[in-house]
Amino acid sequence: MGRRLEPACRQCRREGVKLYLKGIRCTGDKCAIERRSFAPGMHGRGQRTKLSDFGKQLREKQKMKKIYGVLERQFRTFFYRASKKTGVTGDILVELHERRLDNVVYRLLFVTSRKAGRQLVRYGHVLVNGKITTIPSYIVNQGDSISARPAERSQKLVKGTVEMLKDRPIPEWLALDRNSLEGKVLRFPTKREAGLPVEESQIVELYSK
Ligand code: SF4
Repeated sequence: MGRRLEPACRQCRREGVKLYLKGIRCTGDKCAIERRSFAPGMHGRGQRTKLSDFGKQLREKQKMKKIYGVLERQFRTFFYRASKKTGVTGDILVELHERRLDNVVYRLLFVTSRKAGRQLVRYGHVLVNGKITTIPSYIVNQGDSISARPAERSQKLVKGTVEMLKDRPIPEWLALDRNSLEGKVLRFPTKREAGLPVEESQIVELYSK
């Protein structure tokens, strides 16, 4: 599978917003956006020019892809799925990405970033309804149970992070039993709960051309 090679902080600086790609560092004073909030590269400081409509739509798409760590092909597949459902395509696009298993373990505080969530899932530390699931793009459903594998290493990994992040809230569409390390999907997430710095309507316009 392809991967994004640009360092995480440069991706944020290119978009001009915090995309929270690096876990704990993103909320501390070492965040690169806090220190150098201009585009990367030699001419980065003077680079914020006015974008065309197409340029703006493209940037919104790039932001969302970077936040969830997905590449064009998978993003397009998700868009296609969203466009086939009843409702506002942009909202459904966000909802589908929020329901990805790597995002859900991030939201449940099992890990500090979505990238770490992807690894946690890939390495078989996560159970969905009691079964090991190693597909980060797996879409969870209402009523699903998401838990750490009973193996000592998995429990230790997840427990350590859940304790470290104990002051962070869990979104209302999820619930977590901190003793058994079992999460539940109570309902589908809303766009507002995702809290993305993205105008998804621009992405819909881009793909509708
Ligand atoms: Fe982005 Fe700041 Fe996190 Fe780096 S530390 S990935 S700049 S939010």
